[in-house]
Amino acid sequence: MAHADTTPRGPDLTNGVPVAHVPTTGVLVGHVEGDAVLVARLDDGFHALSATCTHYGGPLAEGLVAGEEIRCPWHHACFSLRTGAALRAPAFTALTKWNVDIIDNTLFVRSKATAEQPAAPSAPRNRPGRVLIIGGGAAGFAAAERLRELGYAGALSMLSADTSAPYDRPNLSKDYLAGTASEDWIPLRGPKFYAKRGIDLRLDCHVTAIDTDAREVATHSGGRLAYDSLLIATGAEPRRLSLPGFERPNVFLLRSLADARAIIEASQGASSVALIGGGFIGLEAAAALRQRGLRVHVIARDEVPMARALGRELGNFLTDLHREQGVVFHLSAAPSHFDGKVLTLEDGSRVAADLLIVGVGVTPRTELAAAAGLTIQDGIQVGLDLQTSVPGHFAAGDAVRYRYGTQLIRVEHWVHAQRQGQTAAANMLGAGLAFTDVPFFWTHHYDLDLRYTGYAADWDDVQIHGSLTEQDFTARFFRAGTLVAAASVGRDLENLCIEAALQQVNNDAVAGGIK
Ligand code: NAP
Repeated sequence: MAHADTTPRGPDLTNGVPVAHVPTTGVLVGHVEGDAVLVARLDDGFHALSATCTHYGGPLAEGLVAGEEIRCPWHHACFSLRTGAALRAPAFTALTKWNVDIIDNTLFVRSKATAEQPAAPSAPRNRPGRVLIIGGGAAGFAAAERLRELGYAGALSMLSADTSAPYDRPNLSKDYLAGTASEDWIPLRGPKFYAKRGIDLRLDCHVTAIDTDAREVATHSGGRLAYDSLLIATGAEPRRLSLPGFERPNVFLLRSLADARAIIEASQGASSVALIGGGFIGLEAAAALRQRGLRVHVIARDEVPMARALGRELGNFLTDLHREQGVVFHLSAAPSHFDGKVLTLEDGSRVAADLLIVGVGVTPRTELAAAAGLTIQDGIQVGLDLQTSVPGHFAAGDAVRYRYGTQLIRVEHWVHAQRQGQTAAANMLGAGLAFTDVPFFWTHHYDLDLRYTGYAADWDDVQIHGSLTEQDFTARFFRAGTLVAAASVGRDLENLCIEAALQQVNNDAVAGGIK
């Protein structure tokens, strides 16, 4: 994670600023007793809010103001400038509101506002009677949280096969693996949250069947739970490689918190690691484990790692960054077998490795939905409202295939899954929202953060503006002359602006009648 520069910027708002200094669009940033505070001018007057994103501490004033919303430059969390509410993931905590006083055309901010009662729920509080969520990952957690935020007061159960309460999965291959994140960063909410919000969170709970007619699920322990509305947020399963020696205890996947902890423990007495796969896990874990001082080998079947996601030029850029940090790449290569200490590749070359990490992609977990008779097509098929082929049954996250513009796509990004969970939650309460968010992810390597917005399974042109060597660029991906995605380093506001433009196109397409 990048760390925010905490030096107070702008005026000391306790001393007052002329109201004319607050722009009509955008925000004024200043500080109050060391806290960064932003001031926005809306139609009903001035609003002052904490200027630090409640997700990872990003500097909101460097983000994008769009109408009454402000979007964080780091991970695109979105807040209301009027209330401070966290509108869209990855942030779930509202910004602190500050009191604004206007005296003789001078604006003062001197104290925090007392917390307001949550706004009256816009959805029926108790309908549906019982909500059940299968899955405790990004989409499942975000849906449960949003249901309560919206004032849903009925029964709410979240059944998670994981043994840990919902956690910040993106961090597992980044700071947490590098040893620079403390344990308390990892839970999305503390243990009291679930009890306080009346969320019946059941861990290590495996759903074995869904009966859509009876509206019941069965669990591995023989229990049955009834529901009126169901969200399937089963996520994706990491692929394994069934090669000789890959069943050894020093061969790991990296998906769950338990996986990350096991890798950290194994790496403590280790001096070398081999990562199989040149995707997100392979490269982010390479950076994290170099930071722990291990010798790191990446074995990738691609000629250029990450080229499929980012193109050859950016793939080479990332690979060179890792080489500069001492990572050794074995490209166009495949593993053959592992004897516990040496990994042999198909070409006969040998790589000493105290542990192996396999990061060769994921498969959507659709078996339950398929067995229940829901329509599956490389993912659980959902409509724009994230409802599956059976009414009252919603699905969100890595496991779903949904309509994005004119395409049916499946996306494996954390923030996108959380946002699907939030939209599904609103729709379970009858909001009837179309999910039109633009996919977004970030990836972190050493001190570098690359942000990506849009969707480009393929493209026919890439235009890069700026300098790769100076780590200050935006790459725009085009298909048939249309901008479909952008990846940037050091140009966060531009990335947000591109996302907003893509969002507008998507909203227009939906308004134009795409079903
Ligand atoms: P990934 O990014 O899809 O990369 C998988 C890599 O494994 C690719 O290089 C792929 O090569 C290779 N591969 C596939 N099958 C293989 C095989 N049989 N033998 C050897 N190599 C093989 O998946 P991942 O790195 O495992 O990450 C897992 C999931 O976590 C993904 O959904 C990813 O999006 C997510 N994740 C995201 C982030 C982030 O957004 N920052 C970070 C970590 C994880 P080909 O390209 O040739 O298929």
